[in-house]
Amino acid sequence: MRYSKLFSPTLRDTPADAEVVSHQLLLRAGFIRRVTSGVYDYLPLGLRVLRNIEKIVREEMNRAGAQELLMPMVQPSEFWQKSGRWDKYGPELLRFKDRHGHESCLGPTHEEVICDLVSRELKSYKQLPMNLYQVQNKFRDEIRPRFGLMRGREFVMKDAYSFHANAECLAAEYKNMFETYHRIFNRLGLKFRAVEADNGSIGGSASHEFHVLAESGEDLITHCSACDYAANVEKALSTPASYQGIDAELGELETPKKTAVNDVASFLNVEASTLLKTLIYVAVGGEADGQVVAACVRGSDNVQDIKLARAIGADEVVLASKEELEAAGTVTGYAGPIGLNCPVFMDASLQNEVGLIAGANKYNYHITGLNISRDLSELTYADLREAKVGDTCGKCNQGSIEMSRGIEVGHIFELGTVYAKPMEVLFQNEQGKRDVATMGCYGIGVSRLMAAVVEQCNDDYGIMWPVNLAPFQISVITLGKSETAFAASEKIYNELLDADVDVVWDDRKESPGVKFKDAELIGIPLRIVVGDRGLDNNALEIKTRWGGKEEAAPDVVCEKALSMLESLKQETN
Ligand code: ATP
Ligand code: MG
Repeated sequence: MRYSKLFSPTLRDTPADAEVVSHQLLLRAGFIRRVTSGVYDYLPLGLRVLRNIEKIVREEMNRAGAQELLMPMVQPSEFWQKSGRWDKYGPELLRFKDRHGHESCLGPTHEEVICDLVSRELKSYKQLPMNLYQVQNKFRDEIRPRFGLMRGREFVMKDAYSFHANAECLAAEYKNMFETYHRIFNRLGLKFRAVEADNGSIGGSASHEFHVLAESGEDLITHCSACDYAANVEKALSTPASYQGIDAELGELETPKKTAVNDVASFLNVEASTLLKTLIYVAVGGEADGQVVAACVRGSDNVQDIKLARAIGADEVVLASKEELEAAGTVTGYAGPIGLNCPVFMDASLQNEVGLIAGANKYNYHITGLNISRDLSELTYADLREAKVGDTCGKCNQGSIEMSRGIEVGHIFELGTVYAKPMEVLFQNEQGKRDVATMGCYGIGVSRLMAAVVEQCNDDYGIMWPVNLAPFQISVITLGKSETAFAASEKIYNELLDADVDVVWDDRKESPGVKFKDAELIGIPLRIVVGDRGLDNNALEIKTRWGGKEEAAPDVVCEKALSMLESLKQETN
């Protein structure tokens, strides 16, 4: 590709609305352009990277025995009615009617479509197991699309679905995919971590998320300092430091206008851990939909929303409004567990705790000396508290919990029969009986990966693509206006094309400074500089994006560059 013909509009300034570095650089370097909220064009450079990511994903999925197919983006409502998700799936599902009034949606995921396909073709256990995947555009009407490709509404996903005759076979494929994902993310040159994940509202058993470690990540992930335990904070198991309350009689204290835990604690001159925090929530979705519940954790802890949602049987929870709070028998800022007329969920670490201070369910008062087992009946204990740095690991009970931020780039699930049963994915088993297929599903955020790579691979000058992902691996940069330099550049360019390298020749009439800056911004791993001086000295400069520098005579410069690329591949992928 000649740079003079390349459609690659770069921006000098950082776009104001781009908060994270990947979004800024992908816009500035001309990889993507925004069409509308959460929807992007991939320009030629962006598409090259996307294809490079897809190539690695496909190679590893194929190697793992999965087969590629392609399903449609438009899905009929009947499928979703059959699975039971038409009403359950929230506003992320974009529903619409065609000219005949027929309802459809844009696929946010493809369990329904694949189940329908397989249910019609599957007859016998002899056809199983199978793993089918696609690389395809998804649409989710996300409430807060942001960070460019990181959280889009239309985005590219690799989604795979496996079908099995029994749970053991599913477990084996789950392991196969777990290992495949490790190979994929390693080949992409990423620092990542596989963590135990919440299964969402769909249930099922095993589930792991794969997170790229980055400060800008939206997820908090916990890991143990001593063992291999790692989990999303949404389900992390950990034990808090132990506290010793002093048992006392129940009493009441005036705490005028003191509502926040820290304010009450400093007013009473006690630690926040002596307080009981009570929050009133409303369940959204699931069996508990609409139910009001109270959740109690220690004053120094926070309620983990997803843990609470799972404990009460909801998809999610939201904080109650003032009216709902009053209906539950309390008032804003002074909620406590005694005398509420809604179910109370207590964090399991508080069982048998004594001497706590809690809200009195009336303005300006707290109660003291709360002894949980003495003073409260009809409680449900559950793990509700959010894990914290310094907690003891819930798996080995020795190491301490550490935390990092992550970008979720992959998610694998053992689905079991959650979809296969309602969608009637049936087959004749070895005993000749009708049986329901057992399923797994395995997603990778392909377009999100492009952003995640940039989050990890950049410097002040721009993107630093690992060699396998770079839109071009080598840039031949012509300096000055001399015809000799132009002709020598063209020769090198053609030689590299013949060697099947993705090469761009910067033949523009721009200053060397502009050309170097653009090559750095775009993140091209190697650049060969061709100018009169180098030609006269029989020594052309080859520079790497990571600061390395070598020289070679014009007739061996390609050979030299190729061998440098090879060693860079080892280092960056
Ligand atoms: P998240 O919690 O980030 O919304 P999810 O749990 O909804 O993700 P899955 O349904 O497991 O995601 O989808 C599989 C993969 O697709 C995710 O691991 C992620 O990498 C990617 N993905 C999900 N939502 C988006 C989005 N809005 N934009 C870009 N990629 C996404
Ligand atoms: Mg999501």
